[in-house]
Amino acid sequence: MKKIFIDAGHNYSGWNTGAVGNGMREQDITFEVARDLGIILRQAGFETMLSRPTLQTNLGHDNNSAINARWQMSNAWGADYFISIHANAAGGTGAESFYWDVTAEEFSRTVLDTFCREMGLRNRRNVLTSQWGVIRQTNCPAILFELAFIDSPLSNPDVEILRNRRWDMAAALAKGFFKYFGVTLRSNGEGDAIERDGNIRFNSIEELPEWAKPTITGLVRSGYLRGDGGGLDLSMDMARILVVLDRAKVFEKRSVTN
Ligand SMILES: [Zn+2]
Repeated sequence: MKKIFIDAGHNYSGWNTGAVGNGMREQDITFEVARDLGIILRQAGFETMLSRPTLQTNLGHDNNSAINARWQMSNAWGADYFISIHANAAGGTGAESFYWDVTAEEFSRTVLDTFCREMGLRNRRNVLTSQWGVIRQTNCPAILFELAFIDSPLSNPDVEILRNRRWDMAAALAKGFFKYFGVTLRSNGEGDAIERDGNIRFNSIEELPEWAKPTITGLVRSGYLRGDGGGLDLSMDMARILVVLDRAKVFEKRSVTN
């Protein structure tokens, strides 16, 4: 199966941090969408690598090395396709995708068209450009994808989507990948929706939604959860149940969340 390198655009802090707008930071959005895209693609059998495996990851030691680290990681890993995820700024609306090599044109257009249709966002443009260093030196087809405008006026859908629909954005990107690669989703009887409550398995603390992290971290530390066999292998329902039990203080003797 194809190897997909997923770059969460920008660093958490220091150099090469992202745009800000409406109380949000680009690098926090890109991390969540990249992480969730990785979860969905792995479920479908792709291999993935994330440029920022944790929210707080900072790459390089200055702006240039932060950008170079991304394509260097991708090339060293031998990625087949590369996506760098960003949020736009300067007050517009909609999504756009950039590619540097013509071999990425159809991939770029398919992901962009699918994403815009799924999210109800304006389809701005699919552009061949040498503007972005992160996609100029990959050994594979590469795109830089702008999800929506972080500083858009609230009359546009961008801000609500960036704030509240990060999983949906990852699912919409994934659907573009599936369309391009000819992957057929197993039907759940209601079309081809990618349900977060469906067959998703979380294998590490970082993959979990924020609300589940304190409980699961505590259970791992206390030895209740071991993840025998390599990963935690938790479904969404299992995570929910454990959080409810934790709230009910079932694990209190072992002081799970402290
Ligand atoms: Zn950016």
